[in-house]
Amino acid sequence: MTEKREHYLASQAERRRQLSGATVAIIGAARSGIALAKLLRQAGADVLLSDARESVPETAELLADGIRVELGKNSDDLLKADFLCVSPGVPLDIPVLQQAEKAKLPVYGTLEVSSWFCGAPVIAITGSNGKTTTTSLIGDMCRSHFQRVIVGGNIGIPLAGEVMNNRDAEIAVLEVSSAQLETISHFHPGIAVFTNLSPNHLDRYGKYEAYVAAKMNMLKNMNATDIIIYNADDELLTEQLTKSAARQLPISLTPLSTGAWWEGEAIRIRWESHDCRIPAGDSSLKGKHNRYNMLTAACAAIVAGVPAANIPEVFRSFPGIEHRLESVATIDGVEYINDSKATSVKALGVALESFQQPLFLIAGGKDKGGDYSSLNPLLKAKVRGIALLGEAKARMKKAWEELLPVYPVLTLAAAVEIAAEKTLPGDAVLLSPACSSFDMFDSYEQRGRLFKEIVLQMNNNGNRKPAGQPILS
Ligand code: ADP
Repeated sequence: MTEKREHYLASQAERRRQLSGATVAIIGAARSGIALAKLLRQAGADVLLSDARESVPETAELLADGIRVELGKNSDDLLKADFLCVSPGVPLDIPVLQQAEKAKLPVYGTLEVSSWFCGAPVIAITGSNGKTTTTSLIGDMCRSHFQRVIVGGNIGIPLAGEVMNNRDAEIAVLEVSSAQLETISHFHPGIAVFTNLSPNHLDRYGKYEAYVAAKMNMLKNMNATDIIIYNADDELLTEQLTKSAARQLPISLTPLSTGAWWEGEAIRIRWESHDCRIPAGDSSLKGKHNRYNMLTAACAAIVAGVPAANIPEVFRSFPGIEHRLESVATIDGVEYINDSKATSVKALGVALESFQQPLFLIAGGKDKGGDYSSLNPLLKAKVRGIALLGEAKARMKKAWEELLPVYPVLTLAAAVEIAAEKTLPGDAVLLSPACSSFDMFDSYEQRGRLFKEIVLQMNNNGNRKPAGQPILS
């Protein structure tokens, strides 16, 4: 172990010791706040968990664990704590946090504090798109070699819960959002993966520069013994990373003098002492974007110590991620694909670029004001027809009706029925809405699950018609 790592682990242990008898206030009683409250209580802290909601289903359980809970407010009691923790969904400009800043009370994110309990080396993945896919791939690669692997963070599995259950993990693979990076202090990944950078979450940040700065906070504690893996085809990202002292492993779709790239259907890595060629043609992951994700994931695994020989099998068996270009069924020679996670115009563009065969598109939902006509050349080249759903229907119809046949419908079942009617064997039906789901559903997950149910029911019925009558609007 290097001297620097020993020092890091010693300072982590010191922070944990100081928690015993300390008072900690946590704002946000969702998954990560609750998991952290339990972890800190176990470490001997007096924990006050606060949420603006009037009721939180886990309250009784938390009280039974000796955690104090306040609901429907953020009281001044929070400011009596030794420090504050914020969940990633909490905006940093709420009054109590402004008061904390004035009172010079330390404010940390839940990921930061959870990381004090993670003795394993960390691979952290961030970027605007592709985080979950890349994190899952790296997780599977690490599991092929290490016995005890943590996969968590923004992927929906709080690190706090994982470190409680895996005190002796050998490696931690963590998806990290920009919100989590805003509130780090000591968090120190040995390997950082940057997938790409594009404007995102401008509702939170206002300015693109502020969002980029949050992402770059990842570099805060990284030094010359650490490694950054990044997409060198992304100019903005490359420019942002020039200042870092860490060793840099660039990846690209085309050959580099040093780094990693695609050579036909194989991944070629030539960087520092690594020199290998990894067959990667046998994978269900589609599209150029996934070629980037596969490249970055393979590099992270290799530099973390996973043997190159393990990786082709991980690519072959990787099932993909639910709601991201997820193949649901092939019925009468037509493949049905659930890409419900595509909630922006850009994500629909990425999906369209991923297919060679003719498509029938199902799009629409809650309109986020995107420029739908920017997709016209891609739609013209790849799509036979489009079923339109939800609030965005009228604007989409206007943008596309002169280009292609469009079919405004009232329900997802009706959209699938039209799709089944208008496609031929060899085509694909793609649900890739380019909109969020909240006009008709609770979440993109609920929308995707309903799509899958309709398709699978149609498959089970042995015919091409989903149950129920289509309703054109
Ligand atoms: P995230 O966790 O960052 O939201 P996901 O892995 O869940 O990313 O992928 C979400 C969507 O982002 C995918 O359906 C696809 O449209 C797009 N995407 C995935 N990977 C990339 C990439 N490397 N570059 C650009 N877009 C991507």
